[in-house]
Amino acid sequence: MPTIAVVPGDGIGTEVIGEALRVLAAIAPDAQTEVFDLGAERYLRDGTTMPADVVRRFGSEFDAVLLGALGDPRVPSNVHAKDILLGSRFQLDLYINFRPCKLLDARYCPLKHATEADVDFVVFRENTEGLYTGVGGQFKRGTADEVAMEQEINTRKGVERIIRAAYAWARQNGKTRVCMSDKANAMRHGHDLWQRVHKEVAAEYPEIKSSHLYVDVLAMRLVQAPQDFEVIVTNNLFGDIITDIGAALQGGLGLASSGNINPGKAALFEPVHGSAPDIAGRGIANPFASILTVGMLLAYLGRPADEARIQKAVQRCLKDGQVTRELGGTLSSREATDAVLAAL
Ligand code: ATP
Repeated sequence: MPTIAVVPGDGIGTEVIGEALRVLAAIAPDAQTEVFDLGAERYLRDGTTMPADVVRRFGSEFDAVLLGALGDPRVPSNVHAKDILLGSRFQLDLYINFRPCKLLDARYCPLKHATEADVDFVVFRENTEGLYTGVGGQFKRGTADEVAMEQEINTRKGVERIIRAAYAWARQNGKTRVCMSDKANAMRHGHDLWQRVHKEVAAEYPEIKSSHLYVDVLAMRLVQAPQDFEVIVTNNLFGDIITDIGAALQGGLGLASSGNINPGKAALFEPVHGSAPDIAGRGIANPFASILTVGMLLAYLGRPADEARIQKAVQRCLKDGQVTRELGGTLSSREATDAVLAAL
């Protein structure tokens, strides 16, 4: 019986997670959920962002965490979002950001002539180091001589475990191509480490064709020939950018889901989109990304057949044009979810 911690969060996060939980209840009635009141409302009410015992409970009492979105114009510092998301990511050491980019209906791909088979790759983005650790500093701030430094952290352990995770996943899932991407021609210290570790790990997977692209070339190639890619592994910053190209190729933020994973331990799953304050509270957000996220979560918990069913049901709705407004449809979040439930 899977146990799932649920953090609906802010803005459309609360709306789409409400819908996704209806799908979870239909497909996995044995799943036990506990909803956590964390987010901007809670922060504004009593100053709480992320209690230490909650992170601990996420890691010890639950099989997975399902998160909606965090971000609220009333909290311009975004401190609650940083504490909740980055707190979970770092304290639970969720070093893999897993981002499948799969086109479910060619109509929603911005590329001319792309077929569904052309966009089907996953990105393994390093999730705990790189340029997003906040290491750095400012000197002579606000003066004409100001200096601002942002340090990129690449550890042997961090680089090796993400590259290894990408190859291991490729092998387990019958994929034959892994592409590592960096910028070793310009970033000669940290990315030289990526190059050396990649060669070592790739040698352990002789059946997999390993390749390397500088990230600028990868960005271009993803748009020109996405069919060339099955598994991409890269660092935190580059992964952030590349996965947004991936989201565009698969039909936009309303369809993109992600997992923050430490295999065999805790994992946190979330739609890629944010809290979208511009449409929050109107019941029109696309719930499909969150519904697909539930599928990904169930696959992680050993139920890949459930994920396949959810994907098929969402695909059915896309094909039938049973979609929300940003995809050209007329349905509300609730009606779009009803359509998925009917397809299931
Ligand atoms: P954050 O800063 O929290 O990432 P944001 O509003 O800047 O939030 P997103 O929420 O990721 O960025 O999305 C950008 C825009 O895309 C939104 O303002 C919204 O118009 C649209 N959008 C995002 N997600 C959805 C969705 N699920 N359904 C419909 N439109 C969406």
